[in-house]
Amino acid sequence: MLAWGRWRWVRRQLPAAVLTVLQTLQSHGYSAYLVGGAPRDLLLGRRPQDWDLTTDARPEQVKAVFAQTIPLGEKFGTVRVVIGDDQLEVTTFRREGDYSDRRHPDWVEFTPSIRDDLARRDFTINALALDPLRQQLVDPYGGVRDLQRRLVKAVGDPRQRFTEDPLRMLRFYRFQSTLGFRGETYTEQGIEAEAITQVSGERIRDELTKILMAAVPEIGLAGLARCGLLTAMMPEFIPVQAADPTLFRHLVATVKAIKPEARLRWAAFLHDLGKATTKKVENGQTHYYGHDKVSAELAAGILERLRFATEFRQRVLTLVRWHMFPADPGMTDAALRRLVVKVGPDQIFDLLELRRADLVGTGGSYYQACDSLTRFARRIQALLEGETVFTRKDLAVNGREVMEILELPPGPEVGAILAEVFHWVTEDPERNRKARIYDFLKEKRQKN
Ligand code: ATP
Ligand code: MG
Repeated sequence: MLAWGRWRWVRRQLPAAVLTVLQTLQSHGYSAYLVGGAPRDLLLGRRPQDWDLTTDARPEQVKAVFAQTIPLGEKFGTVRVVIGDDQLEVTTFRREGDYSDRRHPDWVEFTPSIRDDLARRDFTINALALDPLRQQLVDPYGGVRDLQRRLVKAVGDPRQRFTEDPLRMLRFYRFQSTLGFRGETYTEQGIEAEAITQVSGERIRDELTKILMAAVPEIGLAGLARCGLLTAMMPEFIPVQAADPTLFRHLVATVKAIKPEARLRWAAFLHDLGKATTKKVENGQTHYYGHDKVSAELAAGILERLRFATEFRQRVLTLVRWHMFPADPGMTDAALRRLVVKVGPDQIFDLLELRRADLVGTGGSYYQACDSLTRFARRIQALLEGETVFTRKDLAVNGREVMEILELPPGPEVGAILAEVFHWVTEDPERNRKARIYDFLKEKRQKN
């Protein structure tokens, strides 16, 4: 049980809307609890990210006691309650049948018992219900003890729970990574990696991203590798695991070293994927010629299967593709400009961040990595401030003007000429004036 001081702290964390919903349901004679992540985080002394509420009131009863609601998955018992600018999900206690299609329960049914509802939840630390007003904690599976032991443990028989919904295998490692907990050995033994192929790309994507973004990604990533889930989801990692273990360790170390933004974490995790198949030893020296290109090709397949949005995919792939850029302090301004043009002004600093993490992940000194890259970054900053031509949109002329001067009809040729003009201008940004580009085009017309 919680000490009195803890209850007061818990109560102070509740947003006003959460308090209102709990009070309203209880004043109408229903029970109402916080469930899922909220009790878990509160018992750990953290502020919850979201507030899932559960009640014995049926969806129609929930709708009846609140002024404004949005039906959400009423069949599954969820109603969204609107309180001012806030919306909260209230779900009726429910039990679930078997998962014969491995995706959805065959049936759900409402139950008056909070214990039945907790039985369908994945891990003991997620199977807690907390009533902060009546100061009650419902903990049928030893969730509090496991929070104290810092242990992720399945509710019930692990094998059966993972078979019902194989995504839980990923969630097992996700909670280890986000909380910095251990996974129970018996639970891990219930994992059958191949079953993960029944789960949709989107669901896998979201859990994997949470592992990559977590405070301790290495726990989850090492676990995924150990139990075969990594290669079951992404066969591209088979050669990585067959290669010497330093490669996988380097990928994980780079993930840890890079800023926690999804696109950066994914780029870090995939950036050297191609090293396993491009390794060559010549005269005692190891080379990985073209591994950046191979990595980008392999990464493209993974990101597409996981249904990432096109823009996200392109950003990650650009970083992976060009991560071997030479960060040579003696680089000429023209070479620097070509690099910025190639990766785009909006991605160049991400690329430097990847390089920094790559260096740290190789065992380099953090300060050394920062020092040379900071000087590099300052030069790029100056370049970006001083000049304005980094994409074709920045050109002082547009397609219509090209068509007029060269007397061309609309078509692919116009784009090709714009690309040529762009290339010519990036050699020397002083050229980006209407008059000078017009001269360039007229000269071209005369030549033809
Ligand atoms: P967070 O929101 O901080 O990521 P959470 O524990 O709230 O963590 P959610 O995915 O929001 O995770 O799920 C809320 C609760 O619903 C979980 O705590 C768990 O009790 C239950 N739950 C969610 N997904 C599953 C699942 N696939 N199988 C069983 N129970 C689940
Ligand atoms: Mg949640």
